[in-house]
Formats: sequence, C-alpha cells, structure tokens
Amino acid sequence: MSEDTDNNTVSVNPDACIGCGMCVAQCNEIFKFQGNSYAEVIKQPETEQELACAKSASLDCPTGAIVVKD
Ligand code: SF4
Repeated sequence: MSEDTDNNTVSVNPDACIGCGMCVAQCNEIFKFQGNSYAEVIKQPETEQELACAKSASLDCPTGAIVVKD
C-alpha cells in the first residue's frame, strides 16, 4: 500500500452523474462507462499527471459528480 495514492481518492457520485462522457474522454485511464449510464472510477490516480487529469475533470464535470479528496 502506498501513502501517496492513499492520500488521494477519486470517486463518482452515480446519483449526480448524467453520463455526458466528458471525464471518460478526458481521462480514460481513470473513468469508464461499464455498462451503466454513469461513469465509474476504474483506477485511482497513480501519477501526478493522472491526479491532475482527475482534478481537472472534477472541475469540468457539469454536475459536480466527481469528487477528488486530497
Ligand atoms: Fe458523469 Fe461528470 Fe463524468 Fe459527465 S463528467 S460522465 S456527468 S462524472
């Protein structure tokens, strides 16, 4: 277990997600549609770049469904 990745947790609130696909298009290594109408987190960020992408997606998400905890 790594402290670095433990400190940052990305999640999608399925009740808030409208399935616009923006986060999946922006960070396809983190977010994915898995047969649902909402995006899911398939992997926690492991690099600064992935974390930055997840944070950017959380700011751009039209419904604020993406939560990134530091
Ligand atoms: Fe859902 Fe937000 Fe991702 Fe759009 S950007 S698919 S609303 S979590």
